[in-house]
Amino acid sequence: MQVRVRYAPSPTGLQHIGGVRTALFNYFFAKASGGKFYLRIEDTDQGRYDGRAVQDIYDTFEWLGITLDEGPREGGPFGPYIQSERIAFYQDAAEQLIASGHAYRCFCTASDLEKMRAEQAAAGSGTGYDRRCRSISPATASMRVAASERSVVRFKMPTEGSTVVRDILLGDVAWPNKDVSPDPVILKADGFPTYHLAHAVDDHLMQTSHVLRGQEWLPSAPLHVQLFQAFGWEPPLYCHLSTIMGQDGHKLSKRHGSTSAQEFRLGGYLPQAVTNYITLLGWSYDGEKDIFTKSELETLFSLEKLSKSPAVFDYQKLDYYNGYWIRQLPDADIARLIEPELAKAGLVGASAPVSSTERAILTSAVSIARERLHKLADAPAVLGFLFRDPPLTDSASYIPKKTTAPEVVAVLEKLLPEMAGISGRDDEANEHHFHSLAETWGLKVGQVLMPLRLAVTGTTASPPLMSSIRILGVDKAVARVKAVIELLKKA
Ligand code: GLU
Repeated sequence: MQVRVRYAPSPTGLQHIGGVRTALFNYFFAKASGGKFYLRIEDTDQGRYDGRAVQDIYDTFEWLGITLDEGPREGGPFGPYIQSERIAFYQDAAEQLIASGHAYRCFCTASDLEKMRAEQAAAGSGTGYDRRCRSISPATASMRVAASERSVVRFKMPTEGSTVVRDILLGDVAWPNKDVSPDPVILKADGFPTYHLAHAVDDHLMQTSHVLRGQEWLPSAPLHVQLFQAFGWEPPLYCHLSTIMGQDGHKLSKRHGSTSAQEFRLGGYLPQAVTNYITLLGWSYDGEKDIFTKSELETLFSLEKLSKSPAVFDYQKLDYYNGYWIRQLPDADIARLIEPELAKAGLVGASAPVSSTERAILTSAVSIARERLHKLADAPAVLGFLFRDPPLTDSASYIPKKTTAPEVVAVLEKLLPEMAGISGRDDEANEHHFHSLAETWGLKVGQVLMPLRLAVTGTTASPPLMSSIRILGVDKAVARVKAVIELLKKA
């Protein structure tokens, strides 16, 4: 079977992690099976249309390297790929269902429906449309339409029996028809289709072989199967993907943290990491291998390895993958990627553009920072000391725990004459030198190096101290030590 799959988002907001996963799975499935992947914009709910959404989809795809075989901007043999440009197809399809007795015109007004609901509530009877317009004869309905009476088209959903949804992941799922929404609207009064009709028509016309989509669509799937049957069309093979949860077991939402691709893109995550981690939400290869490049996934991905259980989105794991993928990059690439982060934090580029001196510092700094960066946005915290003197506002912040200002001053004063030699030795030799100094002075290594680290970097957790001093420049480091001595003497 020629695999043809699609990503069919409704442009109602920014791309959500769940949507990104659906897109990635469809894309990888198409690639791995030599098929086609297309984008279809499902914008028939004009009330919820968000103008930023389509651009955001394209930006997200470009960022992740997802390429399209067909789509709104790419074109293709089954276009247009934007549903609002395909209205005539849906109207014809609705007429076809009316003609074959599978659908009917409903003339109920909003107030009729409200009254119906109130009566149902009072009687404690079932809710949902009571199918009252089913009994209007086709001839009468045509006359009322000709007389410009407003109407919608409803699908005659069977009330008895059950519908079997064949799902690649979940197996055959039998749904009692009475549990499916009664006679849902398929064409609205403004002539626009609802999602149910539009996507079925398009999946048929666009020769979609498989539908990989979120599990929230499973309850509508019996209706979709019935629609395909009513048209006499072969339905695509469905595959409803497991839900993505937060760590508290609730569906992933804003409450848990960033959920849009844009937030991750702007928040310093690498596309390699996002692709790697998101693909593991509900898919695994052999249960062991967990680092994948995009091109590996383009050949290794398969539907057999999908999981039915809900996937848990763990922000820490994403950071782990991000750190991993950052470390795979050459220094020059990391420098290029973190430069905007440092600029945002006002650490470089004060005299825009970023100066060549700053760039040189940055490039040599990457070697000491790469192990510490979980996100590109961590760069200002890790490397800020190279570009900005620690503030001399709080003398206590330069005094390690269990020591006093005079003790720190004494150590720093002893260190000052030793610092000049740093530039003549490599990091390892310097390390060794200061360790033996501590021994000679009868002090622990920490008692010597922690005051120095605080004075030079302003933090207790800087990258390795000797390399930090080398990259900062010994003169600057000496000046900082002197400034801290002054500050502590006044304290
Ligand atoms: N437009 C639907 C959505 O945004 C697509 C569902 C489907 O893939 O069939 O979720």
